[in-house]
Amino acid sequence: MASAADFDLFRTSEEHEMLRDAVRSLAEAKIAPFAAEVDEQARFPQEARDALETNDLHAIHVPEAYDGSGADALSTVIVIEEVARVCASSSLIPAVNKLGSMPVQLSGSEELKAKYLGALARKEGMFSYALSEPEAGSDAAGMKTRAVRDGDFYVLNGVKRWITNAGVSEFYTVMAVTDPEKRSKGISAFVVEKGDEGVSFGAPEKKLGIKGSPTREVYFDNVRIPADRMIGAEGTGFATAMKTLDHTRVTIAAQALGIAQGALDYAKGYVQERKQFGKAIAEFQGIQFMLADMAMKLEAARQITYAAAARSERSDPDLTFFGAAAKCYASDAAMEITTDAVQLLGGYGYTRDYPLERMMRDAKITQIYEGTNQVQRIVMARQLLKG
Ligand SMILES: Cc1cc2nc3c(=O)[nH]c(=O)nc-3n(C[C@H](O)[C@H](O)[C@H](O)COP(=O)(O)OP(=O)(O)OC[C@H]3O[C@@H](n4cnc5c(N)ncnc54)[C@H](O)[C@@H]3O)c2cc1C
Repeated sequence: MASAADFDLFRTSEEHEMLRDAVRSLAEAKIAPFAAEVDEQARFPQEARDALETNDLHAIHVPEAYDGSGADALSTVIVIEEVARVCASSSLIPAVNKLGSMPVQLSGSEELKAKYLGALARKEGMFSYALSEPEAGSDAAGMKTRAVRDGDFYVLNGVKRWITNAGVSEFYTVMAVTDPEKRSKGISAFVVEKGDEGVSFGAPEKKLGIKGSPTREVYFDNVRIPADRMIGAEGTGFATAMKTLDHTRVTIAAQALGIAQGALDYAKGYVQERKQFGKAIAEFQGIQFMLADMAMKLEAARQITYAAAARSERSDPDLTFFGAAAKCYASDAAMEITTDAVQLLGGYGYTRDYPLERMMRDAKITQIYEGTNQVQRIVMARQLLKG
């Protein structure tokens, strides 16, 4: 039987709503004014980074023991959601700071945690997560990047592709093969620093959306790092990488929610202003039904995302299912909602004079990264069919 405490999970606390109000005000004042320009010029949203760091919102998941705010998973979701509501590219600052640092938080030694989580919290550098490679996307365990032990060091060689915020971030969690015979159990995780000799970056990818978030290849050419930069024991890197994604898929769901909310809010205002046939188009039932469907899908996506955040906070055994379900459901909903929002603006929605075509382009990535939505369905089905 469900208890009263279970039901509370479905309602955000007063504190969470205060956080939402604060982030919304900040995002509207300091991030929204640059969103169109950041997209148009495909440039990093430095204004957003400054605003988030000044207000200690860039990585609120870092525990207090490492100089962080120690905020819970739902608070992190709310920060990402509210930033994405005005600028999806900027929301990748808190989202990828969590993605990149989560392996250290989950599996790192006390020394690694103190050094790197502390540096992130103190704004000494952002974190990125380097799992994917040119030939290893959905099949990430097929990676080729090698780490070979040499005394008290490991030497890394290889290429990572599609690394969000690469070049801007100071710190990188890098998954590399330490024992090629063992496939996923022969992969280990390491912290690599931007300044380590032999680390370099490719040109930014030219993308459909999230153009303000640089996505680059990262090259490792005989990068020699101390052995104590390994995260957890040798051979546990792939398990740590997957456990990380269980938690951070919830943050991609949050990003999708925010983009969809931004699109719905804008379209709702527009249909009440725009007149055709002598009245506001919001008075037509066909328009009202579209708005109702958009809001219904958005609210369902929010509920599953917040339920997943509660499971992330407690590291519940069903987090793997919920993380995949929330990411998949919310990103599909965001794609539908942003597409319908463009439709509600008619021809104007199709132009860059309005923010909706940007939101529709930005929504698409949420169906692809941190595992495509086909992969999320594989993850969910495995959970359903196991044991
Ligand atoms: C903008 C951007 C940012 C990214 N950021 C990062 C990052 O920071 N760090 C990082 O490590 N990675 C990152 N990625 C990589 C991302 O996670 C991968 O692109 C994604 O996992 C898919 O891999 P792939 O592109 O190689 O596609 P593929 O794996 O080649 O997939 C191609 C198609 O086949 C489908 N498919 C593959 N296998 C199956 C199957 N078994 N059953 C059914 N369908 C299947 C896929 O769903 C997809 O539709 C990013 C990608 C992009 C585009």
